[in-house]
Amino acid sequence: MTIHRSDTIIALSTPQGIGAIGVIRLSGPEAIQVVDKHFFGANLEKAASHTVHYGKIRNETDDILDECLVTIFRAPRSYTTEDVIEISCHGSPYIIQEVIQLFLRQGIRHAEPGEFTMRSFLNGQLDLVQAEAVADLIESESKASHDVAIRQMRGGFSKTIKGLRDKLIEFASLIELELDFSEEDVEFADRRLLVRLVTETQAVVRGLIRSFELGNVLKKGIPTVIAGRPNAGKSTLLNALLEEERAIVSDIPGTTRDTVEEHLNINGVLFKFIDTAGLRAAEDAIEKIGVSRTMEKIGASTLVIYVVDVTETSPYDVWSDIKVIDIRHPRLIVLLNKMDLAPHTKPETYYYEEVIHAGNTITASAKNRMNIEYLKEKILDSVLADQSTQDASMVTNARHYDALVKAEECLDRVLHGIDTGITGDFVAQDIRHALHYLGEITGEIHTDDLLESIFSRFCIGK
Ligand code: GDP
Repeated sequence: MTIHRSDTIIALSTPQGIGAIGVIRLSGPEAIQVVDKHFFGANLEKAASHTVHYGKIRNETDDILDECLVTIFRAPRSYTTEDVIEISCHGSPYIIQEVIQLFLRQGIRHAEPGEFTMRSFLNGQLDLVQAEAVADLIESESKASHDVAIRQMRGGFSKTIKGLRDKLIEFASLIELELDFSEEDVEFADRRLLVRLVTETQAVVRGLIRSFELGNVLKKGIPTVIAGRPNAGKSTLLNALLEEERAIVSDIPGTTRDTVEEHLNINGVLFKFIDTAGLRAAEDAIEKIGVSRTMEKIGASTLVIYVVDVTETSPYDVWSDIKVIDIRHPRLIVLLNKMDLAPHTKPETYYYEEVIHAGNTITASAKNRMNIEYLKEKILDSVLADQSTQDASMVTNARHYDALVKAEECLDRVLHGIDTGITGDFVAQDIRHALHYLGEITGEIHTDDLLESIFSRFCIGK
């Protein structure tokens, strides 16, 4: 993508295919003039900004292509800060293509993916974090990821980063000034203040780095492993949670050989359920791989649901499983399953030290969907208890994360440098590098390649 800024672009902004309406968007200096030439209903060249006009679009041979509504946004009060026209026409792919082709013949061009948003960024309306949040907002599939995207679109942690950057820039300039007076051995930049600022900056950066793990989890779904012995009812439980037949259910122990992953949105929080191979001494090689994968999945999960067949597995067996596979997971829910077959089972017989207790044990029947809604509540509660999910400045983007990690390393070098009495030019250089990485996050520093990689993940028309 070559980054042109001054021409006029056009694209369909609603999804491809048949719809009640389709919205075609144009942005650039010729947007108003080009549409006005073929729009009959109002004089768009004279129309005020933020007004809507009803009329007909006619092609060069005067055929009516459609009756539509045209909205006009004059620069700079538009999404891109340029003149923008939005044409709401009937959502027929034929009409939309005819209208777009008509305007393309006037010499404007098709927009690249994300080009409207990129212009908004290049024209200073959004910073990069906000622009990327637009893409996240469109993709968000749950309330939690939607909340994070909205916060970032409103400025999120950009403000924090910008504030820290401004202060660091001041210090970098002072140190660079010292270099000009190197003969005279002066110190314009108070080293104690610098150390304090760098330490403060580092603390913020580290906090953001830590938030990434959680932010990313919210976006992709909280990994929740369903574990237990073969035939305990893990696949049945997954189906009950998803309310459909997805995982393989069978009477032959060990049929869920590989892991099955499914997403489920519980009250706005996205969970990724991972049904695992049964936990038991594996008898064949394939099963062995399955068991070791289960262990891996448990290690990487946020939540574990351990399913017990109360008709088959005694408390003693459950305890020994816990010892062997070490499921002393911080967030463990023990599901005593098949209670329909043994309704008199007492849950307290399964309690074990601090690991299994009334607070995290549920009796259920996956097959009859008994207590499944209650289980969902428990699942939700166990993660919502974590206040950091409500954190305002959460990093969810791998690009931001990488830049933060690099900035943090540079800040470390600054501190080390001051500590060991390294010369000012090296300290200044490390501060500049840290500034570079922080600037890359918000887009104060950017290259065409960076913009291309970011905006190419947008859809056309956004
Ligand atoms: P997995 O190996 O742990 O995934 O177990 P499955 O979900 O494949 O279930 C094994 C067998 O137990 C199947 O025949 C299920 O129908 C049955 N089953 C699972 N949950 C229950 C339950 O709550 N009650 C009863 N009666 N049978 C169940």
